[in-house]
Amino acid sequence: MKVRRVTTTEQALEALAEHGSAAQPLAGGTDVMVQLSRNEISPDVLVPINDLAELSTVETNGGVRVGALVTHETLAKGALGSGYRSIAEAAHTVGGWQTQAVGTLGGNICNASPAADTLPPLLVHDAELELRSSGGSRTLGLEEFLVGRRQTRRAPDELLVSVGLTPGAPRSGDVYLKVGRRSAVEVAIVGLAMRLVFDRNEIVSKARIALASVAAVPLRVRAAETLLEGEALDGHLLDEVSAAVLGATSPIDDLRASATYRRLLVPGLVRRAAGVCARRAGVSSPVEEAYQ
Ligand SMILES: Cc1cc2nc3c(=O)[nH]c(=O)nc-3n(C[C@H](O)[C@H](O)[C@H](O)COP(=O)(O)OP(=O)(O)OC[C@H]3O[C@@H](n4cnc5c(N)ncnc54)[C@H](O)[C@@H]3O)c2cc1C
Repeated sequence: MKVRRVTTTEQALEALAEHGSAAQPLAGGTDVMVQLSRNEISPDVLVPINDLAELSTVETNGGVRVGALVTHETLAKGALGSGYRSIAEAAHTVGGWQTQAVGTLGGNICNASPAADTLPPLLVHDAELELRSSGGSRTLGLEEFLVGRRQTRRAPDELLVSVGLTPGAPRSGDVYLKVGRRSAVEVAIVGLAMRLVFDRNEIVSKARIALASVAAVPLRVRAAETLLEGEALDGHLLDEVSAAVLGATSPIDDLRASATYRRLLVPGLVRRAAGVCARRAGVSSPVEEAYQ
């Protein structure tokens, strides 16, 4: 296996164009190095991209644009601002501090694990991905990008350059809740992100709900979002929302938890997330934040 040194985005794209699917971009390496050691991947050429300054910036000008190489540590410290707390919360749970120091947002997206922590909060912020090859750029919604477990629509000659997020709104709140066996260095048994925007009458005007570890890819649950939109929060409504979430997901039994346990977690997470979103939006809510 060769390592192809690059110092600019153009050089990285040239390397990917030259070697195609035999080349593997290497960002923080926290997934790649583990997969190499387990012989799960066997690229001919590694293309370390971690020095590409262009991919390491955060722009907050109206909406937010996050470079693919921005680390979980930077995100966990709140680099995106108060409208994107779910992303900071998710980044804060990606492994321990060592993983967060080098692991990147782009790596978490392109690795496309069903349990990837940043994907649910990115989905609730309508993330749009900028993919670039030596032939040009294209933009793809995150939902469309994710095809299956570790499968994406990234072409072998493309780099993920940046992630665009919808601008924050007044009277909105977002949150990411993760259940794992330990609070750190543990992938999610279930991860749930929610973002609610309220109108002046405390009615939900826009809802987004997305989950990790309950299907082959992290996914948005539109049926649950539709139930919330146009309504005030109450316990009965949230029971219906939980039922819609459970209807749209297909958790599996694995080493970390049974499918039954995962399903049992969902109603409490939905209720708690709605309560946190309301509080963060400054809306009075009869919904308790504690697990029920
Ligand atoms: C101890 C440990 C604990 C972990 N805990 C968690 C956890 O709790 N939650 C969680 O979600 N993840 C966890 N992970 C997984 C991993 O840390 C994250 O997925 C991380 O975000 C990967 O980023 P990276 O920069 O290290 O990616 P890399 O390993 O460098 O790359 C990952 C994949 O993305 C591709 N890639 C990377 N950047 C780009 C780009 N810009 N364009 C195109 N392709 C690209 C690579 O080719 C590779 O296929 C853990 C890993 C370890 C080792």
